[in-house]
Amino acid sequence: MHTTRYHVVPLDPDAHVFEVRCTIDDPDPAGQRFRLPTWIPGSYLIREFARQFVHVRAESNGTAISIAKEAKDVWRAAPAAGSVTVIARVYAFDLSVRTAYLDRTRAYFNGPSVFLAPEGREREPCTVELQPPSGSGFASWRVATTLESAGAGAHGFGVYRASDYDELIDHPVEMSDFALASFAAGEVRHEIAISGKQHADLERLARDLARVCQWQIDLFGGAPHSRPPFDRYLFQITAVGDGYGGLEHRSSTSLISRRDELPLPGRSEIDDGYLNLLGLASHEYFHSWNVKRIKPAAFMPYDLAREGYTRQLWAFEGMTSYYDDLALIRSGVINDARYLELLGRAITQVLRNPGRHVQSVGDSSFDAWIKFYRQDENSPNAVVSYYVKGSLVAAALDLTLRRSGRASLDDVLRILWQRYGRTGIGVPEGAIDAIVAELGGDAIGDFFARYVHGTDDAPLEMLLREFGIDYTLRAGVNGADRGGKPSSSPSPLSWLGTRVGKDLALQHVMTGSPAERAGLAARDVLVAVDGVRASIDSLDKLLTRTRAGERIAIHAFRRDELMCFDVTLAEAPLDTCFLTLQADPSHEAALRRQRWLHG
Ligand SMILES: [Zn+2]
Repeated sequence: MHTTRYHVVPLDPDAHVFEVRCTIDDPDPAGQRFRLPTWIPGSYLIREFARQFVHVRAESNGTAISIAKEAKDVWRAAPAAGSVTVIARVYAFDLSVRTAYLDRTRAYFNGPSVFLAPEGREREPCTVELQPPSGSGFASWRVATTLESAGAGAHGFGVYRASDYDELIDHPVEMSDFALASFAAGEVRHEIAISGKQHADLERLARDLARVCQWQIDLFGGAPHSRPPFDRYLFQITAVGDGYGGLEHRSSTSLISRRDELPLPGRSEIDDGYLNLLGLASHEYFHSWNVKRIKPAAFMPYDLAREGYTRQLWAFEGMTSYYDDLALIRSGVINDARYLELLGRAITQVLRNPGRHVQSVGDSSFDAWIKFYRQDENSPNAVVSYYVKGSLVAAALDLTLRRSGRASLDDVLRILWQRYGRTGIGVPEGAIDAIVAELGGDAIGDFFARYVHGTDDAPLEMLLREFGIDYTLRAGVNGADRGGKPSSSPSPLSWLGTRVGKDLALQHVMTGSPAERAGLAARDVLVAVDGVRASIDSLDKLLTRTRAGERIAIHAFRRDELMCFDVTLAEAPLDTCFLTLQADPSHEAALRRQRWLHG
């Protein structure tokens, strides 16, 4: 069988340019076509990676041959005998987990944005030779990737291999002077590689992640001798001043984290920042099963030339979002109060967006490509997050199954793993609904019609009460109050129905709100509220002392024109949630709560 041979060199770190070569033998006699993906699995937006291919040329047996573009993402080399090499210069300066980045501090890439696929040869094995940048200053660079070595030493430059193109592009590569830590979970070595300036307590991070990973391995594998579905795993983290992101891969994840979210030496508490990082790492690790191996049938195989449509992202992202935090409490990393705070915040996030009554999580999954990933000023009115509402639907499903006494969402996941994950068969549309109905029987009723394919709010208030948890709602203050715990600041008496940015521009105007009825629009810039110069603080204070039904004047610029709006304030909606353990739950509720949160 033929092998496709790639070669990657960070050619010019200061110009942010990689040179990537792709060589094949016995090319198509009609002229070999090469295609670049338009999207990367896990991030459902057409990104047109070919935009960053700044120069492409071709050679056959060392002699230049012509190569021409046939489509935005396709090149065809002139007919040639022997071998053909395509040599591309790729601009890489995107500080995200989705494409590629190169400067003097690090080189990073995801396969879909740099590796051309020779058409018709995607199933053939590949090798990749990784070369360090030339020049001084790079001697301390190493390689972090879960590509299999084909000669390269541990963390070394040299040759790696993949059994086909799909595998090749699912192992991002970090080349830099990163810090390294490791731990074992499920008898498998896990590594943490952190690039960027940071002073984190890596042992602490390794210790906490080990507990979370082991819990997830046991969930799917059945303790005590369960193993994960990979031989090694890598958490590749880029520490930055401000940023957030993660992308899952089959045996690694790339994360972007604020350096102040990494744990500090000598501190044992888990602050909000570190909790955020642990939740993100837990989320991406859970994807090793749920979406990387248990996959929607629509992704079997991925068609990276166009959108892949499924109504099931609410399950792949929503269930993962539910289990990311649940794994933290079930593994003992956080306590009950902390977990309930996180759940209360997720409920708050969903309650604040009227789009939850417009779009179902099934429809949000299907239209992720044009809506969830392309949000604008109207998104809160028209779009629901299949992540956050999906996590609440997953929680409600778990509690509904547990209350029936017949099963839990853990069982649903284990069945999905056995039927579709281990076997590598795609999950057909509707299969999850069927598994849940099979397990829950009458207790499930019209759950899917209402909460997944319909737009009803997940019935968490009622369910949580039966698990010994009280659900309290109050009116929240603009932006500052994320919910999750009792607030010390006074609740507003009235509501304007906008989100205001630091620059006093309206980011969103909510459907049916007083602001919308008065004619205010997104991007209007507040000048004065009730005759006084506008500030976020003064607006919040006004709403805490002014009652619903009162009228105020708002002056604002629309484009460059000053306008005046006569606003009649409405009652502040109860959109901010916190959850508390009932002090004296019934015996049954206490038992259910214990089993749910502590297994
Ligand atoms: Zn995810």
